[in-house]
Amino acid sequence: MNHQNFELTIGWLYPKLMSTYGDRGNVICIERRSLWRGYNVRVLPLDQNTTAADIHTVDLLVGGGAQDRQQEIVMRDLQGTKADALREKIENGTPGVFTCGAPQLLGHYYEPAFGQRIEGLGILDLVSVHPGENTRRCIGNLVIEVTATRLARDLEEMIGSKPYLIGFENHGGRTKLGKVEALGQVVYGLGNNGEDGTEGAFYQNAIATYSHGPLLPKNPFVTDWMIQTALRLKYQQPPITLSPLDDTLAMQAREAMFKRLKVNFPTLALQQ
Ligand code: GLN
Repeated sequence: MNHQNFELTIGWLYPKLMSTYGDRGNVICIERRSLWRGYNVRVLPLDQNTTAADIHTVDLLVGGGAQDRQQEIVMRDLQGTKADALREKIENGTPGVFTCGAPQLLGHYYEPAFGQRIEGLGILDLVSVHPGENTRRCIGNLVIEVTATRLARDLEEMIGSKPYLIGFENHGGRTKLGKVEALGQVVYGLGNNGEDGTEGAFYQNAIATYSHGPLLPKNPFVTDWMIQTALRLKYQQPPITLSPLDDTLAMQAREAMFKRLKVNFPTLALQQ
């Protein structure tokens, strides 16, 4: 099949309710990096008007952060066949990036500072609890080393050095992982809970993270990993290799942030 005929559908979870701190940038980044390579892209909002059949058509998933109240509204809607369709997608390896409030909802539950526990979908083996209004929120720049085995290996192959991700966290909830693999190890910042050094989770091809930023434009190689994974899954035609794009500015921005945060990696210069 001619690569120009490739088409990707990005399923964007509840854009009006879940899109804090510029998380929409993750959708734009996947869309633009696909279009620049000549692929067709459709962005499909997944919300109260969506059916399970709609969810089955998506090739990539994006879920952003949300305030506690919005998370509750989402979880009231994301039930039954819709929840099953999303579960099936993730279990079958659809690549996704889920930020902050979104992974809390993919876990077993989220306990907000006020009000009732919000039951999650239980796809990710993790729980999140907000310790109360008198506890400091976790806010600030975040740098992690990706440690999830398969993802770390794939990214290292793509960029030729250890993969470090940069972002910005802003959350009250603290997440504890069960048997799910962490996305990475915190190098700078607080991550899942500020205690055990873990950040995010990685399951099948779902990337869960506290990192806004948004994550993908700040770490463009992760975007390409998602696009490549989606194409391989959809067209079953390996090897599909993406044509390179000029990421000089994005890489310079990363270097500038690492310098500002005084995070020093011997391998950084190689991350071009
Ligand atoms: N409401 C959640 C928390 O404070 C998520 C916040 C967010 O998505 N930015 O932990």
